[in-house]
Amino acid sequence: MEQTTHTAVIIVAAGTGTRAGGALAKQWCLLGGRTMADRTLDAFRTAPGIDRIVLVLHPDEMARARDYPDVLAVAGGGSRDASVRAGLAALCGQNVTRVLIHDVARPLVSQRIIADVLAALDACDGAAPAVAVSDALWQGSDGQVTGTQSREGLFRAQTPQGFGFDAILAAHLAHPGGAADDVEVARAAGLRVAIVPGEERNLKITHAQDFRRAEAMMEQAVDIRLGNGFDVHRFGPGDHVVLCGVRLAHGRGLQGHSDADVGMHAVTDAIYGALAQGDIGRHFPPDDPQWKGADSAHFLRHAVGLAGALGFAICNVDLTLICEHPKIGPHAGEMQSTLANLMEIDPGRISIKATTSERLGFTGREEGIAALATATVVKQ
Ligand code: MG
Repeated sequence: MEQTTHTAVIIVAAGTGTRAGGALAKQWCLLGGRTMADRTLDAFRTAPGIDRIVLVLHPDEMARARDYPDVLAVAGGGSRDASVRAGLAALCGQNVTRVLIHDVARPLVSQRIIADVLAALDACDGAAPAVAVSDALWQGSDGQVTGTQSREGLFRAQTPQGFGFDAILAAHLAHPGGAADDVEVARAAGLRVAIVPGEERNLKITHAQDFRRAEAMMEQAVDIRLGNGFDVHRFGPGDHVVLCGVRLAHGRGLQGHSDADVGMHAVTDAIYGALAQGDIGRHFPPDDPQWKGADSAHFLRHAVGLAGALGFAICNVDLTLICEHPKIGPHAGEMQSTLANLMEIDPGRISIKATTSERLGFTGREEGIAALATATVVKQ
């Protein structure tokens, strides 16, 4: 099916601001051991539904484009507006229908915010995250409070700000310049912009203390869980086995209530284990006739969906199949891509290994296949 929506993100990194305290522009400063730019790029590299990344660099820093072969690097202009326009111009004629515009200085943007902005674009010309103002607001002059201001209906704007591509391009070309952000440009052109919930974590890093605050947030937020899964199925009559969703011709079949995909069962149990959500038998009781002969992909999708519902992303899976035959090695790549598709994660996060048991024990006697899996999940 032809893709009808093509989504790009423009990351504006053309600033030379060194207010964070060093000689380097802040986007090249380290945040938790990696540059801010790397962290911001990664947020969009891992986001589903982003087809293209444009990185707008300062014209004097175009050499840095070598470090980012997977993104389209563009030289920015003398102002933020001009840099965004350069990014938009680079996307012209590329069938881009939607564009997100993001400040490189917000490296902790969550997958939830990116997804919400994209989803809101289905119903609105534009969408952007914001946080309602909760502090009291004053006017001041010469160190004194000279007035107060209602915070009713006031929001602190964040990025990414998303728009229909043609509409924001036209809005930028028509704007005289000097806008604080792209929502201002869009509104000047009459576009409607929806507010999606922002997050305190999606802070804009400007000063040295912002780096410290962001690093403290990153430390707090890391919540990684590890799970294991073990499964065994015995051989019986048959002419094939299904392992990790891949059908392999074999002199015998694996017996079980479902399709007896011992590899996929171990992976599924590892995910349930990481989530402390029991095992396959708890979610799909083996005495329930509706799971007889079931495609085990159904179980794995359920575990992956449960992880998402509980706010976890799957980091990686490592599976070892233990058998003398069939030989797994020639099929490991196909098993890896099959699991990656089912789990909607990068194949590089899935490892398929195999070993024999040196002809010892039930696997050595070829009475069955055993599988051992480990999965890690991380709170998003
Ligand atoms: Mg099983």
